[in-house]
Amino acid sequence: MNVVEEIKNKKIIHWFRNDQRVSDHEVISVHHTLKSIRCFYITNAKYGENHQLGFPLIGDKRKQFINESLQELKKDLEKLGIELTIFQAIDELKELEISDDEILTYQKLFGTEELEIEHQVLSKTNKNIALDNFTLINTMTLPFELNKTPDVFSSFRKKIEKYGSFQKPINLPNIPTFNVPYKLAGGEQQAIHRLNYYFFEKKLLSTYKETRNGMLGTDFSSRFSPWLSNGNISARTIHYLVKDYENKLGANSSTYWLIFELLWRDFFQFQLRKHGSLFFKKNGINGKTISYRNHENTFWNWANGNTGDDLVDANMIELKATGWMSNRGRQNVASFLVHDLNINWRWGAAWMESQLIDYDPASNWGNWMYIAGVGNDPRPFRKFNTQGQADRYDPTKSYREKWLK
Ligand SMILES: Cc1cc2nc3c(=O)[nH]c(=O)nc-3n(C[C@H](O)[C@H](O)[C@H](O)COP(=O)(O)OP(=O)(O)OC[C@H]3O[C@@H](n4cnc5c(N)ncnc54)[C@H](O)[C@@H]3O)c2cc1C
Repeated sequence: MNVVEEIKNKKIIHWFRNDQRVSDHEVISVHHTLKSIRCFYITNAKYGENHQLGFPLIGDKRKQFINESLQELKKDLEKLGIELTIFQAIDELKELEISDDEILTYQKLFGTEELEIEHQVLSKTNKNIALDNFTLINTMTLPFELNKTPDVFSSFRKKIEKYGSFQKPINLPNIPTFNVPYKLAGGEQQAIHRLNYYFFEKKLLSTYKETRNGMLGTDFSSRFSPWLSNGNISARTIHYLVKDYENKLGANSSTYWLIFELLWRDFFQFQLRKHGSLFFKKNGINGKTISYRNHENTFWNWANGNTGDDLVDANMIELKATGWMSNRGRQNVASFLVHDLNINWRWGAAWMESQLIDYDPASNWGNWMYIAGVGNDPRPFRKFNTQGQADRYDPTKSYREKWLK
């Protein structure tokens, strides 16, 4: 029996995590068939805490994005007559009582901290249903056992493309006419707005493969990542709308490539499910020992965009100012920290965890491990030549000039 059938006529208490939307949602989309429903959210335990180097574990830009997302969710739920309680700290969970005739539904997440919180919440009830809706594929439709998930992306992708089946949206978001430009702000409305802009208004999806390595401006890649990380839009909805776009406007290598990138996202999610806490350990999932320095001044020069390498500095300044950085930028700054400055990769990963508005445990730590040489990269050593990369991807220096002025 699927979840939608299983919860019909039942009393539900839903725990929102990174599924902060009302459309394409297993529980909310059928709220009218339920006997009763109430919802809650628990603020990340890292709020207010600092890293050993003194920076906040969750920076202001990320907090703001999450806050915008939750405020919108609360309003959208209110319109449906559903109450959302936000617990500001894990201690407040004491106030949560779940009655015997209620079923707890929640999105299953696999980071170490996420599993710890899940453990605490589940201790309050023995009636629960976990939703596996963060990825494009789900564990049930993987064409291999979870513990046999290939550790190399191309093997993973080929198996999925040949034998896997993608999740389908429960329902589609309503795409209204937008009269003002989209904003990089949290919430389902802006996610849909951006998707409409990128796909249907500007048709940028048709040239994505040629532009995706850019750094300057906002149109070279989809920018879906912050909304995906908070679940303001689901990967399965994006996949469905790519197919819709292909039917209406034509398929090409660019339309395929967006799905290819979403499979990278799934790849890291399933890697985290498979390898668990090794993702966050210094020797990563492959157990290789790499030598590095814990030199704080060098780290801070990197974090503040003060290394003297203009490509790295421009990207780090953009990150601090906006909470966002292109994929090309992320690869270069990570490689520079690890392979040029020889600094602890986990400090770099923690800095991005703090700063990025699209932070996601699997994508962040998985990509960092990959570049540090302790993760999934089949090549033993991957160092980016930042000067060569700058010449290639910023030949007119416009990107560097924008952020270094
Ligand atoms: C060091 C490092 C740290 C990163 N940290 C994060 C993170 O915390 N959160 C995050 O969402 N992504 C992270 N990424 C992956 C990638 O850089 C971003 O997903 C991407 O830049 C977001 O921009 P976009 O939405 O315009 O991407 P697009 O190019 O438009 O791609 C579409 C979607 O595909 C997915 N995707 C693309 N590339 C990757 C990738 N390499 N790994 C996983 N998913 C990918 C994202 O969900 C993205 O939104 C990191 C990459 C590196 C190298």
